[in-house]
Amino acid sequence: MYNSMLECNSTTVRKVLQADVKMHPRAAKCWTAQMLDGFHGLHRCDDFVSAVRNGVPIKLQDFTDNLRLRIRDVWGTANDVGSRSSVSLYEAFFGIPFDKDVRAPVWLPHYMSQDHSKHVMCNVSRFRLRAHTLLVDRAIWSHGAGSPICDQCDLHEVQDEAHVLFKCTCPEICQLRRKYSTLFLQTAHLSSATSCVQFVNKPMMYNFLSQANYKLSRFVSELMDLCEAGLGQPQTDQPTFLAEGP
Ligand SMILES: [Zn+2]
Repeated sequence: MYNSMLECNSTTVRKVLQADVKMHPRAAKCWTAQMLDGFHGLHRCDDFVSAVRNGVPIKLQDFTDNLRLRIRDVWGTANDVGSRSSVSLYEAFFGIPFDKDVRAPVWLPHYMSQDHSKHVMCNVSRFRLRAHTLLVDRAIWSHGAGSPICDQCDLHEVQDEAHVLFKCTCPEICQLRRKYSTLFLQTAHLSSATSCVQFVNKPMMYNFLSQANYKLSRFVSELMDLCEAGLGQPQTDQPTFLAEGP
């Protein structure tokens, strides 16, 4: 829009833009001031600010490249803000590596291109975004009023994603793992004779959660249902029209 206003054949529009640019040091809410604020964090921020102040067009390809780089920089902060931050967990468990070419398309998670009900899609999204009800986060949000230790098994471990996916010995979850045992064969060596895994690390979590198998979403969704129902009242995956009611 800025470039269009610069090249507009209307003298009035060009003069309004020039006046707005001159006004921005004294008017923080003017259009130019807000645009310059939006440049913060871009690798070539100073160049774009200088272009606006001098009334020079901005090269859109450079600008979009810088926007993409700024979004990528979000992942660079993942290790600085704590191991239970949403960014660090998302990167560790679900992060899809970026292409070296900043203009290459960004790949979507497998489940977004699979045919699942709205209920499953919602559950999987919540699990990925840490919007679940596992005790580890309920304890954080309750500021210590609740315990993060799993109350469904006797392992005395924090009930986090790794615990419920691989380690919890709760009978309902063990039964769910057996139901989806093919998901565990490659990453966790879970056989039909075992119901849980002793050792779990982040690479194992990433490999498991990166499977393109459509059953993975069904498993995660049913696991979320179990956790939300207090592990005593499992809910079945309902078709969208049933989940939404009549
Ligand atoms: Zn447990």
